[in-house]
Amino acid sequence: MSSMREKTPGDPQPGSGHAAETPVLETGGLTKHFPVHRGRGEVVHAVDGIDIRLMRGKVVALVGESGSGKSTVARLLAQLLPATAGVISLDGVPVRAHGGRKFRRYVRNVQMILQDPFASLNPIHTVRYVLGRSIRIHHPGAKAAERDELLRSLLSRVDLVPPERYLDKFPHELSGGQRQRVAIARALGATPKVLLADEPVSMLDVSIRIGVLNLLQDLKETFQLAILYITHDIASARYFADTTMVMYAGQIIERGSSEQVTQQPAHPYTQLLIASAPDPDELAERDSRPAKGEPPSLISPPTGCRFHPRCPFAMERCATTQPPTFTVHDGQEAACWLYAADAVTEREQAFGARA
Ligand code: SF4
Repeated sequence: MSSMREKTPGDPQPGSGHAAETPVLETGGLTKHFPVHRGRGEVVHAVDGIDIRLMRGKVVALVGESGSGKSTVARLLAQLLPATAGVISLDGVPVRAHGGRKFRRYVRNVQMILQDPFASLNPIHTVRYVLGRSIRIHHPGAKAAERDELLRSLLSRVDLVPPERYLDKFPHELSGGQRQRVAIARALGATPKVLLADEPVSMLDVSIRIGVLNLLQDLKETFQLAILYITHDIASARYFADTTMVMYAGQIIERGSSEQVTQQPAHPYTQLLIASAPDPDELAERDSRPAKGEPPSLISPPTGCRFHPRCPFAMERCATTQPPTFTVHDGQEAACWLYAADAVTEREQAFGARA
């Protein structure tokens, strides 16, 4: 780990692609605090100062246990929630769009796929209605014959063929995988540049998850989509994503290529997350060197490193001072004091020969 150094402002983010390429969607210091009680000043620190870059034709995985703030990030990026602070830029232009024409224009570019396809499809509407509505909204000038053609091609794109077999089905007449494919087709109806996929396969049978991920992979390549893949399953991030970011208590604590983060995790939390895969919520129970305690309160998050009350390697400064982001390897960085230049002994004690 000879290349460890503290990251400085202006350094490119790992996995962000060519330096000259403008991200399709980018955040700087994205923050969301939810007030707890009006007038008391207490807030839930759901998301704190997050930087994300989504590039054309690339998948970024955002991984963490329940309550880490992943889904709030998706809702902020979809502009379904106003940010407390920070900037969201689409094609390099800062956007705040919480209604009206501006929001519709934004949504045409940035579409969301939700975890539960059954809940996201209205049970009283057929596939024809669901997709037809998306086409009417996003292609207002299309004539009836063009709309019909588009509708069939959307179903073909998500491998629901022949389209006639599915057009007049209601959601309850489809399997979970087919429903999620309809939800993806509806998102594609907008011809978006970005897909925000919030746990898109976690409610599907294990046997059909891979098919839906393969479909998203194909669509990414065909349409050069930028995809944010939100998941609690870090193993699937290795399979599906180019870059993986790990989130803990509202902050990004590690990022790098998916291969690096999943095969040589640097941050103690990521290591525990991998040890407890596929269910990070069992973090405290399954690893032989368990993390202590529960995820922290986000109303009054721990001082210093937010992971310090649970970290098996916590040092004195971890409790008092928030760690900066250190470059661990080329393209991999972690917010952990073990990677400070003066922490060689502690690092060796923690990781032995790996350090
Ligand atoms: Fe553990 Fe300290 Fe690193 Fe936080 S900064 S993960 S407490 S060693």
